[in-house]
Amino acid sequence: MKETMVLDRIDEILASRTYDEFRRRLADSDCPRCALCESRTHIVVSRGNPKAKIMVIGEAPGEKEDLQAKAFVGRAGQVFDQIMASIGLDTNRDMYITNIVKCRPPGNRAPQKAEAEACRPFLEKQLQIIRPKVIVLLGATALRYIAPGIKSFSMKEKAGTLFDIPAFPGAKFMVFYHPAAVFYNSTLRTAMWEHAKILKQFLHDVSSR
Ligand code: SF4
Repeated sequence: MKETMVLDRIDEILASRTYDEFRRRLADSDCPRCALCESRTHIVVSRGNPKAKIMVIGEAPGEKEDLQAKAFVGRAGQVFDQIMASIGLDTNRDMYITNIVKCRPPGNRAPQKAEAEACRPFLEKQLQIIRPKVIVLLGATALRYIAPGIKSFSMKEKAGTLFDIPAFPGAKFMVFYHPAAVFYNSTLRTAMWEHAKILKQFLHDVSSR
């Protein structure tokens, strides 16, 4: 009986017709689909503008996100905001930001495969509603879970490049180093600023076509 109620609620979230409906239903759902439900404070659906053409996908909420129920508001989020501001993008106005999983993993570990799979229908619903033209992935974990078909890759070669993923036609992808990884690594930080310039040039080229 309880299981039926849970399934009904998940179906209801996935049947949402507007973004606000989806966000509210998921945030209030008390979703029990994976083990992360046991340690979270809040389900963290997103931050930013659901009408934006650029969607940002990180791996999971951290401590601040879990407490505030907003994606990328911790230190990593601030680093990302600064880098995007340097290319003229306001992350709250020009981007819609979410994560592979919507609940914080204990100790900020990476989400496990079963957790990413359990949460995937919600991410797919976000993609369906937002219909982004550009998808920025933050870190190798986000890329691995979005595109399991890409079996092996090196972030050194992949980060900062634009590419397609056949399962998501109509969107161009770019993967960045995770902002948390650049705190203490000046080489990665410099690379990330360079990658932001590539994104800026791409956005400029697309808008002038
Ligand atoms: S991570 Fe996703 S699937 Fe797991 S409990 Fe949270 S909302 Fe549900």
